[in-house]
Amino acid sequence: MGNVLSGLIKREFSIPVHPVLRDVSAVFTAKNKQVYLVGGAVRDSIRGYRPQDWDLATDAVPEEVIAMFGESTPRGHVIPTGIAHGTVTVRFKGHAMEVTTFRSESGYSDGRHPDKVQFGTSIEADLSRRDFTMNAAAYRLPDGPLVDPYNGRTDIAERRIICVGNAADRFAEDGLRPLRAIRFASQLDFTPDASVLAAIPGALAVCGHVAAERIRDELDRIIASPKPSAGFLLMENTGMLALLLPELAQCRGAEQKGFHQFDVLDHSLLALDYAAKIKAGPELRLAVLFHDLGKPLVSRIGEAGVRTFYNHEKESSVLARRILLRFKYPNAVIDKVCHLVEEHMFHYEPCWSDAAVRRFIIRAGEQYLGELYSLRMADSFGLAGIEPPADALLPLIERVDKILAEKKALSLKDLAVTGNDLAAAGIAPGKRMGIILGELMDTVVDDPELNTKEKLLGIALNLFNRG
Ligand code: ATP
Ligand code: MG
Repeated sequence: MGNVLSGLIKREFSIPVHPVLRDVSAVFTAKNKQVYLVGGAVRDSIRGYRPQDWDLATDAVPEEVIAMFGESTPRGHVIPTGIAHGTVTVRFKGHAMEVTTFRSESGYSDGRHPDKVQFGTSIEADLSRRDFTMNAAAYRLPDGPLVDPYNGRTDIAERRIICVGNAADRFAEDGLRPLRAIRFASQLDFTPDASVLAAIPGALAVCGHVAAERIRDELDRIIASPKPSAGFLLMENTGMLALLLPELAQCRGAEQKGFHQFDVLDHSLLALDYAAKIKAGPELRLAVLFHDLGKPLVSRIGEAGVRTFYNHEKESSVLARRILLRFKYPNAVIDKVCHLVEEHMFHYEPCWSDAAVRRFIIRAGEQYLGELYSLRMADSFGLAGIEPPADALLPLIERVDKILAEKKALSLKDLAVTGNDLAAAGIAPGKRMGIILGELMDTVVDDPELNTKEKLLGIALNLFNRG
């Protein structure tokens, strides 16, 4: 009987444990401490995926963890990442993992931070403070058991997002949780429980007080998910879009030209799904999402009764910058996204001269050409949800590639004269010289044959003497 039972228990549930995690757990066990794999790593293992990163929970306090890994690995391998909250980062055998002492916290008067972080004594208490049942299971290392007080495993199998406890209460404690629910729905293709969706509108005020960086990290994950439109539609339906991205929410109902069957919001989301499908990087996805933000503002009915959106790319770029600044994106990301948005309206005609192609390359920036082509493909897909022909941009790309292969005068550094050359010829450095260099650039874009030192110096002196 005993054998049958232990056999049953053994077969009950196990997840694959990485050898490095086994070694980590041996360090804890040697000190008589418990250690559990928790959070997303358990969730992903149950779903049959290899976890991206490891979060561990232990009854050892941070000082004990530091002592354990300070002893067994070279110094400096424990980083006190969030020691006030009981979290340290342990670097061990080429892996980094966050190790957090069991916590039980009380009171969230500001909807952002627990008033008091207390170290708890049990994994069960620790799991009770976690957001969703799918995130509130723990796996005792090295070989189980799975501690799953809220039946997270069933919810994972049924792809359901449901709060640990009462949704409204849990959202009032931490205004990021509603957005996390939407993020997980989009990222994992799970469905938020009706109780979760119903509690979001009442939590928006708390949500509005959450630090911009925390919101940005969740938005980034929605945008990075395989079908981001799912997340954005959930945001729209719960009022979260109007709260966080009113500029985008206002695109609902904004009409497009006659041949568009979708409004600006649906068009942008379709385009974003296409960007996700071609595995576009984060900046390109942001540019795709924001490329038409300005349309509702510049929309006019022209003389012939035709709707126009003159300069919407400029307005879109202004709004995109406002959003990205609000969420504290790095400047390099902001500049790149806005550049892509601003340049998305190129219209190639076979009659373009080589000089026109060169001007296009200079405007676009050689390093952004690939992403601008992809942005255009996404934009085309968003017109009707139909895949554009793979070779739609081929005539332009071939012309561009030919010019690039010729390596003829595409930026100031390719000019056959430098500022120093001009100075030596008697043109003093300063604003005048800048204007002259710009004109020389235009000259060689029009006619690369003129890009020799002798010819350009002649032209420069001519311009200079003309005053
Ligand atoms: P990912 O795969 O994106 O890392 P994750 O579930 O591991 O997903 P993390 O943000 O790394 O998400 O958080 C780790 C765990 O900490 C979560 O699974 C959850 O148990 C808990 N957690 C994180 N943020 C919150 C929160 N705002 N409220 C309650 N619990 C949270
Ligand atoms: Mg994680």
